[in-house]
Amino acid sequence: MKVQITSKTDTEIEFILEDSNPQFANALRRIMISEIPVLAIEDVDFYHNDSVLYNEVIASRLALIPLVFDPDKFHFPREKHDEGKFCSMCEVVFVINKKGPGMIYAKDMKSSNEDVKPLYPDTPIVELFNDQKLKLEAYAHLGLGKDHAKFQAANASYKYVNNDKTKFNFKVESISGLKPEEIVTKAVEILKEKVKEFDKQFKKI
Ligand SMILES: [Zn+2]
Repeated sequence: MKVQITSKTDTEIEFILEDSNPQFANALRRIMISEIPVLAIEDVDFYHNDSVLYNEVIASRLALIPLVFDPDKFHFPREKHDEGKFCSMCEVVFVINKKGPGMIYAKDMKSSNEDVKPLYPDTPIVELFNDQKLKLEAYAHLGLGKDHAKFQAANASYKYVNNDKTKFNFKVESISGLKPEEIVTKAVEILKEKVKEFDKQFKKI
């Protein structure tokens, strides 16, 4: 199997996968879309909101803000704790406490972890008019794209090169705070783990 990167930007990577097969290519594509752990805002506590937007609307906007984070420094809450319990390696808290007038941007979210922040700091969240106030705490956790789109790491697709069923032109566009090459590497790791686990289970039979 051979891989050759043909183009790369901050958000997108294209590569040619050679001497492979459709099953492997498809498994890789599916993992990149639905099984890469991604940090996103899951819960929001509102203490004060007299903006023009309902709590639910603000919460769903916050959930869609891509967050920059180091995937090796986080775990799934349920892997380490009882239900509803978190530590700093599975939860990042963002605080917004602002008074109008003025636009609230993603960069106005104060993070409990200085290494975790919105990828696009100038994303508008809501505009506050005179004397309006917004005070909330938002909690980000790891999740998977197959559970909710807000955890989707990437859009990934491929096509055959010259109708050759062993040669694939892959395109991976990150829609999370992860770099596209991190997503590909992580997908390969996950696939390897799955094969290892299958092997282990199979040998038990
Ligand atoms: Zn934890």
